Amino acid sequence: MERSAQVIVVGGGPTGLMTALALANARVDTILVRGNPPSDNRTTALLASSKTALETLRVWPHCRAQAAPLEVMRIVDDTGRLWRAPEVEFSAFEIGLEAFAWNIENRHLLAALAAQAAEEPTLRIVFAQALRIEIGETDAVVALSDGETLRGQLLVGADGHNSACRVAAGIEVTSRPTRQTALTFNLAHTRPHHNASTEFHTERGPFTLVPLPGQRSSLVCVVAPRTADRLIGLDADELGLELEMRAHSLLGKFTVEPGRGMFPLAVSTAKRCAAHRVALVGEAAHVLPPIGAQGLNLGLRDAAMVAQVVGDAARTGADCGARAVTQQYAQRRRADIATRTVAVDLLNRSLLTDFLPLQALRGVGLYALDRIGPLRRALMRAGVDAPFAPRLMRGLGTEHRFR
Ligand SMILES: Cc1cc2nc3c(=O)[nH]c(=O)nc-3n(C[C@H](O)[C@H](O)[C@H](O)COP(=O)(O)OP(=O)(O)OC[C@H]3O[C@@H](n4cnc5c(N)ncnc54)[C@H](O)[C@@H]3O)c2cc1C
Repeated sequence: MERSAQVIVVGGGPTGLMTALALANARVDTILVRGNPPSDNRTTALLASSKTALETLRVWPHCRAQAAPLEVMRIVDDTGRLWRAPEVEFSAFEIGLEAFAWNIENRHLLAALAAQAAEEPTLRIVFAQALRIEIGETDAVVALSDGETLRGQLLVGADGHNSACRVAAGIEVTSRPTRQTALTFNLAHTRPHHNASTEFHTERGPFTLVPLPGQRSSLVCVVAPRTADRLIGLDADELGLELEMRAHSLLGKFTVEPGRGMFPLAVSTAKRCAAHRVALVGEAAHVLPPIGAQGLNLGLRDAAMVAQVVGDAARTGADCGARAVTQQYAQRRRADIATRTVAVDLLNRSLLTDFLPLQALRGVGLYALDRIGPLRRALMRAGVDAPFAPRLMRGLGTEHRFR
């Protein structure tokens, strides 16, 4: 059996679902291919612009109760080095925001996106794996594990860091492993978090506690691969105790909830985020270490932008996968992806460096942020603002024609 649509989206992770919903919102005829999503115990701190897009797409009401506001962010230098930075605290109220972000478990976010996707009459969803992808001059063809074939003017690769869509499009990727592993846990604790996240900067990477609703937090613990292997093997009590020590008992006693995640870290960027008939979104286009909650927020902006550019083309009756469309998408995403990747990579490297002058520079930088209000406020705004934001991120449906 063969079916066709204007756009085929491969990948049912958060960026794939968001892309499909945004395209449906722009009235683009779309088929979403959802494989078997792996279980994911991570959480995402959704920046205000991402939350706005989810509100516009009517997803937010499905998950708002499961999200906790992140009103205060604390950075604590826990390196034990000669040059140690002072503790710095950022408050969302200082820049007139209700919160920097809303932290939600990925399983709740995915369920909310899927619930809304199921309600979209113009969106077709196929539960299968994409087995073979062929990119032609006039269309892209996807052969599925259930024997069906899909044909579309444009293929959106939302199929994660090992993207088959990227390979089929002949797009190369530059990748540098950072020799760090991120462990993810969700915890209950005996002291309240007061909607504050705390990022302990250690010599192997950040150890970040982010509030969840109630007396719970998510934890991303970045360590050397060997330490990760040891920690992941501990039983719940031993692990709770060790993590509590690493958190200096800030939130009291920890109870580690079932479900543990382990992610070898890398900085990877596709050389282009589009090619003829193909656009890449999310981790198919860029993978960042988990610092400053940038990765998925960046992916959601890809999703909103591809829907905006394709929606505009579709309204004029143009070919959704034409070179002009894919080139426009790539050009509009280039600066955002490049600046976030460089910033996150530099921040991560500044933690790992043994070079004393660089350690000193980092300490002076954090000292200046602590003392100089305008500088601190400028950095806070840069972290949450999305200067290259697509219309959805500004609360405008993709059907709006103006910028
Ligand atoms: C420890 C950690 C913490 C993080 N915390 C944050 C945070 O706080 N804030 C933030 O913004 N980002 C965060 N990130 C980044 C964020 O988790 C990722 O950017 C995001 O999960 C990527 O989503 P995605 O949809 O692009 O890819 P994925 O989640 O990998 O989804 C890809 C999907 O494609 C499917 N697929 C693959 N191949 C096929 C195929 N052939 N056919 C059909 N389907 C296929 C897979 O099954 C999967 O469901 C974090 C990352 C890590 C490692």
